[in-house]
Formats: sequence, C-alpha cells, structure tokens
Amino acid sequence: MTTHTRRYFSCPNGHQGLEHTRETDQPYGGDWSMTDVSGIVETGKDARGYPMYKCIRCSQPVKENEQ
Ligand SMILES: [Zn+2]
Repeated sequence: MTTHTRRYFSCPNGHQGLEHTRETDQPYGGDWSMTDVSGIVETGKDARGYPMYKCIRCSQPVKENEQ
C-alpha cells in the first residue's frame, strides 16, 4: 500500500511550492519512501527533524500553508 502525502508551501512573494512524499509498506521488503519537491529546495532540518525549504525563485524561506 502506498501513501501519498502532499504539503503545500508559499513564500513571502507568493510563489508556491509542493512536497510530495510516497511511502510504501512492503510486508517483506521493509518500508520505502521517496520525496519529490517542486518550486522549493531543502535547506536543512528543523529541531523536530522535518525538512526546511526555501523558494527556488527568490530564495526566501517558505512556510507550510494552513490546511
Ligand atoms: Zn519566492
């Protein structure tokens, strides 16, 4: 079973970014996950271990949109 998680981000200049994670539970092969991003680039991890991103167009830090 594959789980898709999408998180949307926006920068102070209104550019949009997307993080798309696919996680697959495999009974014998272990867990597998892959993350694609568009419009944003990872700059490191925050204190909780989650990736932090900046805008690829203006290099401003992005914030995750409220759901
Ligand atoms: Zn931007």
